[in-house]
Amino acid sequence: METHRRSSTNSVRSHKPARPIALEDDSTKASDALPLPLYLTNAVFFTLFFSAVYFLLCRWREKIRSSTPLHVVTFSEIVAILASVASFIYLLGFFGIDFVQSLVLRPSADVWATEDDEVESEVLLRNEDARHVTCGQALDRSIRSLQPPAPIVTAEKVFDEMPVTVMTEEDEEIIRSVVSGMTPSYSLESKLGDCKRAAAIRREALQRITGKSLSGLPLDGFDYESILGQCCEMPVGYVQIPVGIAGPLLLNGREYSVPMATTEGCLVASTNRGCKAIHLSGGATSVLLRDGMTRAPVVRFDTAKRAADLKLYLEDPENFETLACVFNRSSRFARLQSIKCAIAGKNLYLRFSCFTGDAMGMNMVSKGVQNVLDFLQTDFPDMDVIGISGNFCSDKKPASVNWIEGRGKSVVCEAIINGDVVRKVLKTSVESLVELNMLKNLTGSAMAGALGGFNAHASNIVTAVYIATGQDPAQNVESSHCITMMEAVNGGKDLHVSVTMPSIEVGTVGGGTRLASQSACLNLLGVKGASKESPGANSILLATIVAGAVLAGELSLMSALAAGQLVKSHMKYNRSSKDVSKVSS
Ligand code: ADP
Repeated sequence: METHRRSSTNSVRSHKPARPIALEDDSTKASDALPLPLYLTNAVFFTLFFSAVYFLLCRWREKIRSSTPLHVVTFSEIVAILASVASFIYLLGFFGIDFVQSLVLRPSADVWATEDDEVESEVLLRNEDARHVTCGQALDRSIRSLQPPAPIVTAEKVFDEMPVTVMTEEDEEIIRSVVSGMTPSYSLESKLGDCKRAAAIRREALQRITGKSLSGLPLDGFDYESILGQCCEMPVGYVQIPVGIAGPLLLNGREYSVPMATTEGCLVASTNRGCKAIHLSGGATSVLLRDGMTRAPVVRFDTAKRAADLKLYLEDPENFETLACVFNRSSRFARLQSIKCAIAGKNLYLRFSCFTGDAMGMNMVSKGVQNVLDFLQTDFPDMDVIGISGNFCSDKKPASVNWIEGRGKSVVCEAIINGDVVRKVLKTSVESLVELNMLKNLTGSAMAGALGGFNAHASNIVTAVYIATGQDPAQNVESSHCITMMEAVNGGKDLHVSVTMPSIEVGTVGGGTRLASQSACLNLLGVKGASKESPGANSILLATIVAGAVLAGELSLMSALAAGQLVKSHMKYNRSSKDVSKVSS
């Protein structure tokens, strides 16, 4: 099979060899209809306009000198008048409308500057950043209003439409082969040597096999080479998630604009309001308490006694140095910190914890663990390794071990919110917040038997930031463990608020952090890639930002609840008006 690269969108009709084209070239412009290139057409009309006007002015000067009435015009003058009017209309249409619209629709430069703190009675989230627009409207209005409305793709429409992808004859042959089962779908990338073409062919085959259209799922505009062998197998497109910005978050004396990828209305606006309350109160402080990724294999012996022998061996400080040397060979960044063991009969769970630099570290720690297990096999030949992960780690599952011992980065973040800010920005009182926190986040969660869930919605912020910055969103389970504390301070005037998060699992290298969009979001926070000054500094900073954003989110949601405005705000800004009317009817 041919393996040369080819654009997957070549037309069947042309049968011409593929021509590498830029993505922008795919879009048809109105100017394509002109007989001449755009710059030549513009030049022609400019010349025509100024020549005609010059000619008319010369003629009128002669007429004035010879006392000929101006309204008596010759044929050449009529032609000149028509030419100048026509070219004027062309030039106005081309340059004039965009210019006028850009003046009329230019957005405000400072979204916080137009705040009107006096209007207390307005709905909470409309007031919170005083943009005087509803959630989602605080965007560049000039850009949006100049573009035609995007077609709305409804679920029914997606399923009604038939596939429309146009392929070459050779592509068509491969599609038929995939549909018939002759060519495995997973082998397309290696067979074609072109990831984009492989995705297009797989997508088309899938549509034919299932009879369902994927027309709402974009294919173009994504670098499929960048995910090969590391992020996603058998791609057929990509899902678009909007990214909003909350901030500036003033944390440890520096400002951060926090990217949040979410489809939950009001989440970004609410976090933004929390950021504002923190900023106006002098900022938040966050401290890293612990930094260690964990992996816990399960090994089995014939007797519990032998399992206990290994436990004692691993926990003997004299053996630690040797084990650390073996473990650390996995990477120049890996540093073994501890091994904690738990026995269940003759089975032993070994929880290795290690520093992993700027990587989230699951691969790194797993490699280190494998090194140690291989090493131990010499002294403990009767050790049967059942699994490199025995769930005592514990990854992507709620578990007390993470809540108590920590996993990844353990961070505490605090702020003292000025009483006036609580009233004016958060629209509630210190007293109400403290009471609600006690009864909801502490007592309510205890009544529910919560595990690490002593908070209002930490996982909302964690997940949105994780998706935006290329973290593993499945780790939101333990990364969202959080206890939110609120206390009245300074004689009851101000509010002390803190979030304690023992297992924030983040990295700035590896995994999804390398992808273009996610990398751009990391760049925005100033934590892209490996830290040049000190390995691990970027991922630690990212963890503290996550905690700071959670603090902001907790403040804002708790305030909305305390003020009794949550349902009202969400019905107004998080549901379409259609749904609201349905509810009311
Ligand atoms: P993870 O362990 O989070 O799954 P990967 O193993 O995919 O991450 O990525 C970590 C890789 O990045 C390792 O190969 C490591 O050597 C490299 N690396 C480069 N710079 C750093 C750094 N500052 N900290 C950690 N790893 C780094």
